[in-house]
Amino acid sequence: MRIGKVLIANRGEIALRIHRACQEMGIRTVAVHSTADAAAMHVRLADESVCIGPAPARDSYLNVAAILSAAAITGADAVHPGYGFLSENANFAEMVEAHGLAFIGPRPEHIRMMGDKIAAKDAMRRLGVPLVPGSRGALASVEEARAVAAEVKYPVLIKAAAGGGGRGMKVARSEEELEEAWRVARTEAKAAFGDDAVYLEKYLDRPRHIELQVLADTHGNVVHFGERDCSLQRRHQKLVEEAGSPVLSAAERDALGAQVTRALRELGYRNAGTLEFLWQDGQFAFIEMNTRLQVEHPVTEMVCGIDLVKEQLRVAAGEPLGYDQSEIRFHGHAIECRITAEDPDSFAPSPGRVTTYHAPGGLGVRVDSALYSGYSVPPHYDSLVAKLVVHGVTRAEAIARLRRSLAEMVVDGISTTLPLHRAIMEDPEFQAGDYTIHWLERFVAKRM
Ligand code: ADP
Repeated sequence: MRIGKVLIANRGEIALRIHRACQEMGIRTVAVHSTADAAAMHVRLADESVCIGPAPARDSYLNVAAILSAAAITGADAVHPGYGFLSENANFAEMVEAHGLAFIGPRPEHIRMMGDKIAAKDAMRRLGVPLVPGSRGALASVEEARAVAAEVKYPVLIKAAAGGGGRGMKVARSEEELEEAWRVARTEAKAAFGDDAVYLEKYLDRPRHIELQVLADTHGNVVHFGERDCSLQRRHQKLVEEAGSPVLSAAERDALGAQVTRALRELGYRNAGTLEFLWQDGQFAFIEMNTRLQVEHPVTEMVCGIDLVKEQLRVAAGEPLGYDQSEIRFHGHAIECRITAEDPDSFAPSPGRVTTYHAPGGLGVRVDSALYSGYSVPPHYDSLVAKLVVHGVTRAEAIARLRRSLAEMVVDGISTTLPLHRAIMEDPEFQAGDYTIHWLERFVAKRM
């Protein structure tokens, strides 16, 4: 099919990111927005815009009927969901397709499968992808949890099957702590996801979070664009990401990539996706798959020299990839800083009016942001306001470039995490690439 007009079912920097790819491909765009976002940059730049409801996301960006109506009224022929909001909602993807629109993402059945972490792990086990040791499926009782924990050895992690954003996850360091962890994880899972199914994994004490970017067309071609190291997290939220990982060799990347692309070909996967792994002592263990474009996709684009959103649009239109794995090359190193409207020490949200905005520039610098001077960051949504992404020939050059870009960047009027990112870049351990998923929590605690 030909895609001539795309409805972007999102807001903020990612709505802009998608708009930019469409423009360059000669595809028209429809922005949808809440009343709180009437003056947002994605609304200003899109070819058309439709207000879909009041400020709360459940009434606007999660309002399926309003979004489908907007698509019908404007004559859009495809929907890009971005990340967050409806991007991993299989029912939404199904409804988009039932309305004769292309869903720029995976098949609904795969979104559903990977949204249930137990089903996802089952599928990956079947496909021969290595997993974190743990329970096979949901735990029926605390006795079963105790038995599995004894087998995989403490510490263990109780995780929500419907989990996301690090919620419904509890560590038990010994048998004494297990019952409490079991109870709290289930209560949290029920409250956050309406589903108290939990499973158990061995808790890895010093892993790195390394993920693999994949892309599949509808003709059976699957490629990967290498890994991203997203170990720098606070409360399971990523803050800094790099491509490639400072600890992975090209041979290790190729081996993981071959295994994963083979698995996804067998699954019949479509469009972009990311498999997340924990990596410790040279071993990969799958934790989950995200069936959407990720926040940190630009670092991959910088090292591979591709535009992932354009690729998503091409395969959604039914085009074959037109290249194979051997043609994908990795050049240099890229790092992204997620800059949020939060206090850099307490992480208290800091919405409000941006009095001055100045983005850094120069060779190898990319800023994905919907900010402008005079813009008011609304309090209703995610606090991400800018992604500063740099590319360098070497990791050391990328870090030097980030330091000077962070020094140039100005966001006045609200608090942002810019000072925290500046401090991270000065740290010798970060500079040496010597960190695990626990490093940032300790770094933040030391600054208090
Ligand atoms: P969510 O969907 O809530 O983000 P994930 O399964 O992706 O949950 O896990 C989020 C983060 O939690 C990981 O990036 C990692 O930092 C940590 N984590 C998850 N599983 C384990 C584990 N078995 N051992 C240690 N840390 C883990």
